[in-house]
Amino acid sequence: MRFILLTLLLFVSTTATAADMADVIYSGGDILTMRGPAPEYVESLAVKDGRIVFAGPLVDARTFIGPGTKAVNLGGKTLLPGFIDTHGHFVYFGKNLVDANLFGCADVAELVARMKKQAERTPADGWIVGFGYQARGMKEGRPPTSAELDQVAADRPVMVVDSSGHLGAANAAAFKAAGITADTPDPTGGQFARGPDGKSLLGPMEETALNAVRSKRPPFTGELAARAITGAADVWASHGQTTAMEAGLGLGNDDIGIVLHAIDEKLLPIDLYVAAKDSALDDTLAAAYSVASQYNPQAGGVVEKLRAARPDLDRRYVNRVRLGGVKFWLDGSLDTAWFTQPYTENPPGKTGAFAGYRQIPDEVLDGVFEKYWPTELQIHMHMNGDAAADQALTAIAKAVQKHGMRDHRPVFVHATWLRIDQIEKIRACGAVPSFLTAGIIPGGDAVVKLWGPERSAGAMAARTFLRSGLPFTFSHDAPVSPVPSILALVDAGVNRLSGSGKVVGPDERIPPYDALRAVTATAAYQLKEEQSKGTLEPGKLADLVILDRNPLKVEPTTIKDIVVVETIKEGRTVYSR
Ligand SMILES: [Zn+2]
Repeated sequence: MRFILLTLLLFVSTTATAADMADVIYSGGDILTMRGPAPEYVESLAVKDGRIVFAGPLVDARTFIGPGTKAVNLGGKTLLPGFIDTHGHFVYFGKNLVDANLFGCADVAELVARMKKQAERTPADGWIVGFGYQARGMKEGRPPTSAELDQVAADRPVMVVDSSGHLGAANAAAFKAAGITADTPDPTGGQFARGPDGKSLLGPMEETALNAVRSKRPPFTGELAARAITGAADVWASHGQTTAMEAGLGLGNDDIGIVLHAIDEKLLPIDLYVAAKDSALDDTLAAAYSVASQYNPQAGGVVEKLRAARPDLDRRYVNRVRLGGVKFWLDGSLDTAWFTQPYTENPPGKTGAFAGYRQIPDEVLDGVFEKYWPTELQIHMHMNGDAAADQALTAIAKAVQKHGMRDHRPVFVHATWLRIDQIEKIRACGAVPSFLTAGIIPGGDAVVKLWGPERSAGAMAARTFLRSGLPFTFSHDAPVSPVPSILALVDAGVNRLSGSGKVVGPDERIPPYDALRAVTATAAYQLKEEQSKGTLEPGKLADLVILDRNPLKVEPTTIKDIVVVETIKEGRTVYSR
């Protein structure tokens, strides 16, 4: 009987029908499946209809070859699962791309020249906006004036914002469009630069004064909205990502419209996981439900009923967009992280036993868990200090007590400094941290000074998590990191080199394979998409990246220099060098 079965199987597998024939078979290079705790290579990978149908020896892949099958020889390059972004700001990044790039402007003349080019590609009713200059870095040592910006276009609103995002300048047409006149008083927490009369507007503006003008900019719609999405998608794909994240949809008041436009026009070549910002939550959810009903033929407008019947509705991708979570901020960044113990050296302007800031009251966070713990929407919480992690863990414990343990996988965004006792609680509640390893180069030296030796050495405790058998991921937080490079943050997790070249926390360095898991297999797990993504296995999506070298076989400090050759989303090339 056993013999007969075996013969039958052999017969079936050697007579591939048209249904089994692969579209593409890859071989001729390192094919790293990313499955399991140690590197596993296969000789070949077969893809059909956007899914992996086979991963194994080349001799067995032959059964999937038909007349239409394309054989791709990797020529010694390395094939991996497509990278997954676990904390980035895709939409925000895309909107910045639409504006003129003013980084590195040497003087006002260069700034004006770049802005003139921007004027040409801006629709007639849009504002002409640029981003990224530094007043200190320009020959004049000051921001441009209203009169200088009039050289770009005197009859259209022109606005520039510096690289910090806190300072800027506008021309008269922009002030007029924003309803700001010489008689408008300065808002609290900001000011407009004024002439000798103390009233007339000179152009430069700071903080809340800048926001008063910026907030009057017309929302991105149509072509501009499309350009933000496709621009960001091109950049993400060029860094090997087949899944992107917008971890705070609603930072801009036109974000929802931009994403809905992307769904309607099918603009996205890669997946976009969205976590809605707290204050924009209701609007985002309403929009998501209306999209869900629009794209589900059975919905008939009865969205709530449908949700009750199909609790996974928010989990599927509609034209490559999925609402996967909600986002809350519990503390600040490295100068304002909320700790149980004071800073080792106070950040500039802080005195006494400064220990950072709490962002939201406990009751608010408890309310969040009351509302979302029982749903499929994951709760993402920004936290850098251990007091913020305590707040999150306490809220989770209350939710578990009331509603029971669920497979919720709360996301601890950054989770930069955790105490050992917190790590065991994280195990118990199934939370997954996403470490901002991309921040080690720009912020590592400051963290050593401000947070002291213990907290800096134990920050982003990847090795500790690995040893404890706990999942963790790595993220870039672009545009906080100016480039959404996955290989750069893998490199940072492996080497932990600061800007000055010091190793920050040598004991938390991890091997390259484990760092790659943090942006593939574990990243898929974090987003609850491990059934379809993260490893090269039959049945999973053919989300792939081809690299010019194998990260496991290069000198570890050169991982960031590896080149993405091609990115493939569900069998389709979305980036090619
Ligand atoms: Zn962020």
